[in-house]
Amino acid sequence: MKLILLGPPGVGKGTQANRLKTYFNILHFSTGHILREEVKSESEIGRKAQIYLDGGKLVPDSILLEMMAQRLSQKDCMPGYLLDGFPRTIPQAEGLNQILDQIQHNLNAVVSLTADEEELINRLVLRGIDSGRSDDTPEIILRRQKIYWDQTAPLINYYQKSGLVKEVNGIGEIPEITERIIKVLK
Ligand code: ADP
Repeated sequence: MKLILLGPPGVGKGTQANRLKTYFNILHFSTGHILREEVKSESEIGRKAQIYLDGGKLVPDSILLEMMAQRLSQKDCMPGYLLDGFPRTIPQAEGLNQILDQIQHNLNAVVSLTADEEELINRLVLRGIDSGRSDDTPEIILRRQKIYWDQTAPLINYYQKSGLVKEVNGIGEIPEITERIIKVLK
């Protein structure tokens, strides 16, 4: 099972991804998490990415594409994976298509998790109180939402053209939402 999980910040992608990876026994790649680890370990990617992460801005497409091309071509990816936070722009989606062509992988679906904006901002402000993430302050939360609507939401339309999109309501109890996702994938 090879999946993309799409949705605005705060919709619960990470939470659902963790449950889905167990259910389908696949890898979970959260590019936000990978990038934060790179920053912590002061790697070259981390040094390049830090100013964007701290400012709630998108890290340049070229960095993401290089990082994911390397990761996805490793053998352990063959059975399946869930991409969470990538692609986030049309150029990243186009780059991902090329990568997948090269390694002969096919996507099974793009799950689009939805929620209204007010609910999202409430959730993120609450998370910011105890997440310790440098980008969970109210101002940066709003910026990340705007970037999502401007640059990432167009991917839904992009993937709709290949008939891959499955829309799932992201409001409700956590297990209930997981069940909705599993159901649309069957
Ligand atoms: P959230 O889903 O809550 O916005 P993430 O953990 O997915 O948080 O991402 C946090 C930050 O990591 C983003 O604001 C951005 O700076 C960086 N990032 C993650 N994935 C990408 C990507 N595909 N392209 C560019 N930047 C990214």
